Amino acid sequence: MNTRKHASAATRAAQARVALSLPPDNGADLARARRGFIGSIPDAQVGGAWNMAPYAFLDEPAPDSANPSLWRQARLNALHGLFEVTSGIYQVRGFDLSNITFIEGERGFIVIDPLISAEPAAAALALMRAHRGDKPVTGVIYTHSHVDHYGGVRGVIDEADVAAGLEIVAPEGFLKAAVSENVLLGNAMGRRATYMYGSLLPRDAKGHIDCGLGKAVSLGSVSLMPPTRSIRATGERLVMDGVEILFQVTPDTEAPAEMNFFFPAFGALCMAENCTCQLHNIYTPRGAQVRDARAWSHYIDEAREMYAGRTEVLFASHHWPRWGSADADRFLRQQRDLYKFIHDQTLRLANHGLTALEIAEALELPPSLKREWHTRDYYGTLNHNAKAVYQRYLGWFDGNPAHLHPHPPAEAGRRYVDLAGGAEALLAKARAAYEAGDYRWVAEVVNHLVFADPANAPARELQADALEQLGYQAESGPWRDFYLTGASELRNPRAPASEPRQGALGQLRALPADALLESLAVRLNGEKAGERVIAFTVHFTDVRETFAISVENAVLHHKPYAEGPAALLTRADLVDLVTGSLTLRAALDDGRLSGEGAADLGELLALLDRFDFWFEIVTP
Ligand SMILES: [Zn+2]
Repeated sequence: MNTRKHASAATRAAQARVALSLPPDNGADLARARRGFIGSIPDAQVGGAWNMAPYAFLDEPAPDSANPSLWRQARLNALHGLFEVTSGIYQVRGFDLSNITFIEGERGFIVIDPLISAEPAAAALALMRAHRGDKPVTGVIYTHSHVDHYGGVRGVIDEADVAAGLEIVAPEGFLKAAVSENVLLGNAMGRRATYMYGSLLPRDAKGHIDCGLGKAVSLGSVSLMPPTRSIRATGERLVMDGVEILFQVTPDTEAPAEMNFFFPAFGALCMAENCTCQLHNIYTPRGAQVRDARAWSHYIDEAREMYAGRTEVLFASHHWPRWGSADADRFLRQQRDLYKFIHDQTLRLANHGLTALEIAEALELPPSLKREWHTRDYYGTLNHNAKAVYQRYLGWFDGNPAHLHPHPPAEAGRRYVDLAGGAEALLAKARAAYEAGDYRWVAEVVNHLVFADPANAPARELQADALEQLGYQAESGPWRDFYLTGASELRNPRAPASEPRQGALGQLRALPADALLESLAVRLNGEKAGERVIAFTVHFTDVRETFAISVENAVLHHKPYAEGPAALLTRADLVDLVTGSLTLRAALDDGRLSGEGAADLGELLALLDRFDFWFEIVTP
């Protein structure tokens, strides 16, 4: 029951069709990805945090179990080492999901985007020093507020450097976006990210091969050092370690806080993550607010107008650079139009009355964009990005009242099974669809049976088989990983846990007091709170901040407050009390919780939910 299957005849035929439809590969991307190679370390291995050795299977030609286009991207993303972008600018690629870039200044190295975790960032810096001299880090720039661009900062600097005057430069709004974007829904997004990045899958030709955006997510220590300087406006100029930098702020594009910048002395343009060698996500399937495709396109165009004429090399924080102002200009125009095309055409078709599913099915890129490799579905897809644009403007409802109030999955599932004439009849129909290669349909109908009866082993197995073939065929790394992780969890059900198994604790511990209390509001169990009215004061002894806390109408509020008897504790102890690793009794006994508000805090804690990280996705 638990075995993975080979690619079916229908999947083999689908891969062959993809191979025939791909743009001719003139080797330009491979040349770009290899250009300027200086050296690496064996398999880019950094302890248990990162290792390219498991991906040696990518040396083989594309197997039947992988989309040939994704396979090509996976091979390009498997290159690793230190690369010269231009004299004075170097990148370490293939040491994490993202790139780390070093600019040679007068005294040392300016670091752009120190990866996800400290160990790979430190290894990248060591590689840079081994080849370019044992020099200090003289500044850090975060291009934007996503963790793969700041989480490894402690691998390149520490607090003493900042105390000694080292600047960390980031776009305005960086810190708020970095700590808040993923907090209120940290558990749900974290769990869904295990699907999106394939973190539970084996690394082989039937498992995880690539994220599209990069190879995988590193597993070292993640932290955040706040910026010391914010870039507020386009046109701001800064000289760091003797290097002149011109900034363009690009809010609400790929991230809420992001910026591109230009180095006049090098003729080098950094496009942050606004341009990558793929179609990016207007909506990220791990779950997040939909991005603004129109603003994204606008800022790419603005960058092109401001800098393209002077650009000798364009680089970004994922994938490989492009050299020459003609290539950079062409790339920027195509990336600009990729996002605006999806935006405008989705709205055009919506104005004709088409709904999200219909638009996503109908949209096709124009031939001039289709001919390019960097417009392809490796990370985002044309299909789910069109749905995202629809959602941003029109929301989840398609206007058809039949979809206004349908039954939820298990309820609907029971009725669909009944309609099909029972589980056996449904499975017989679904098996015929599977034999015909209609895996999308199998996934839809067998899902009804799995949700009606999750213990039905043949249903789970057929559903897993269908998702697996869809995964093999997917061009998008995240789609492949979603499908294959779903198949794996259907085949190998997780043992139920008596206690919630929680994730994202590190994230909670890093929160300012205000954001921590904000996150408690979404843990308040509305049913349990009922008509309870609670009001008390809490004083955080570690940061010396006091808040008035209240519960009424099953809603938790907090406000900064100065006086009154309070519950006294640290933020860390509150996190432990909320997650259950510290009991109220123990906290009171050893004095970690004290003061007159302690009993009220205990009453509140009893109303807060704990979230199980491993909630089910492909079963009810
Ligand atoms: Zn990134």
